[in-house]
Amino acid sequence: MKLELIGHDEKYAVEQSLLTLFPDERPVYGPVTDADESAARITMGEDAGSVCVTTELRCGGKTCTDCCRCPLEGTDYEKEGQRRHALGLSFFRAARQVLGTSPAWGSLTGVRPSKVAVSLLREGKSPAAVLAELEDTYFVTPRRARLALEAAETGLRVQRELKPNDISLYVGIPFCPTRCAYCSFVAQSVEKSFALVEPYLAALFDEIGQAGATIRSLGLSVKSFYMGGGTPTTLSAEQMDRLLTRLEQSFDLSSLAESTIEAGRPDTIDPEKLSVLRAHGVTRVSVNPQTMEDHVLAAIGRRHSADDIRRAMREVMDAGFPHVNMDLIAGLPADTPAGFRRSLDEVIAMGADNITVHTLSLKKGSRLTLEGSRIPSADEVAQMLDYADPALRKHGFEPYYLYRQKYMSGSFENVGWTKPGGEGLYNIYIMEELHSILSLGAGGSTKMVGGGLIRRAFNAKYPKEYIDLAGKRAANLAAFADFYQKEGDTP
Ligand code: SF4
Repeated sequence: MKLELIGHDEKYAVEQSLLTLFPDERPVYGPVTDADESAARITMGEDAGSVCVTTELRCGGKTCTDCCRCPLEGTDYEKEGQRRHALGLSFFRAARQVLGTSPAWGSLTGVRPSKVAVSLLREGKSPAAVLAELEDTYFVTPRRARLALEAAETGLRVQRELKPNDISLYVGIPFCPTRCAYCSFVAQSVEKSFALVEPYLAALFDEIGQAGATIRSLGLSVKSFYMGGGTPTTLSAEQMDRLLTRLEQSFDLSSLAESTIEAGRPDTIDPEKLSVLRAHGVTRVSVNPQTMEDHVLAAIGRRHSADDIRRAMREVMDAGFPHVNMDLIAGLPADTPAGFRRSLDEVIAMGADNITVHTLSLKKGSRLTLEGSRIPSADEVAQMLDYADPALRKHGFEPYYLYRQKYMSGSFENVGWTKPGGEGLYNIYIMEELHSILSLGAGGSTKMVGGGLIRRAFNAKYPKEYIDLAGKRAANLAAFADFYQKEGDTP
């Protein structure tokens, strides 16, 4: 879509709105002309106490205009937020006229739709007032407003229990048995990169040793540990045992409230590995079937069947972990609302106390987009999610964190559901940005939170680079230490 910005340079906010409301469009900047079939001219002006945004939008043969005026008050930072709010609202209202429908999340864009609810609760608003504001000011549907409120309430409760020196630790294992068609992670098929696994572990062990020393010297306490990927259980039982032993030797884990390991693919799970995880005190594993439909598993490039998932889940449940999560994805290629319902019903019956329902997000470069597989429509995805919410509530699950991604089917959401008391703390910490996350391994993204600031440092993305770039690993740890020396004592 051709975009022309007049009187401002809020490219990021405009693109967020564009990608949320028109996921198939990509921004191109320049003066809008009569020849442009898909275009938006967004003009911003201010007077003493207010900002006025006008959006003229043309798409699908329709042209619509919206003018939005909002008060400007408070600090410069608050005024910046008010300008963006006016911009988002104006773009949304023009888009709603062009599209003829109102998206589920209304004018809310961005990754964390519960953020507004958190701010309103912090201002002392009642839950009923928060719901009313989400629905009336941001045009969020009642069901989504309730999800945002519930996630915000859980986030605030968890935040109250944190100490200033608590952090989380993440370790990435970027290998999988095969690469799924929709994958957007840094995951390499172990068939292709088997020779890299041991050199990767050697580099990781080195980083773990240095990170443990850094954390001790800063007086920080590891509150939660999460191993993701890739699929960490692609490692053999012996490799996993060595890795967990190295972590225990390098960090003081006596204050750990939870330890999670992703065991996403059933073809990586066996009783020997599960007993290694149990012996090292892992409290939560995540088995991620995504679907229980064999033809959908084939369509997404998983080389295993639904029966393999059933076998793996029996072994996981027999192993007696305190918490088990299972992931499903609404909107997978070749799936249908009826197929998704069958998958969810079966996953609920398997006994996991956490179920995460994702909506398919196809980033550029995912193989599916290139091959043009049949993807369920936004309407079909809506039917899947409309089934999931009441079905999970009926079985005693509550939503406890949620987030959105770019390029999601229908611009919906991913929601983590839990039985009472089974919340995955790491998921809340990372989504609500409640404290620092030190990430080790390829693709690791360290987030430093403190003193009202958030800073990030990224490890090398791919295993080979990660192995080769010892200097980059050391620089990230130094940046982490530097941040804590300057900011960490004022969270
Ligand atoms: S299991 Fe997950 S990380 Fe691995 S290839 Fe599939 S989507 Fe990617």
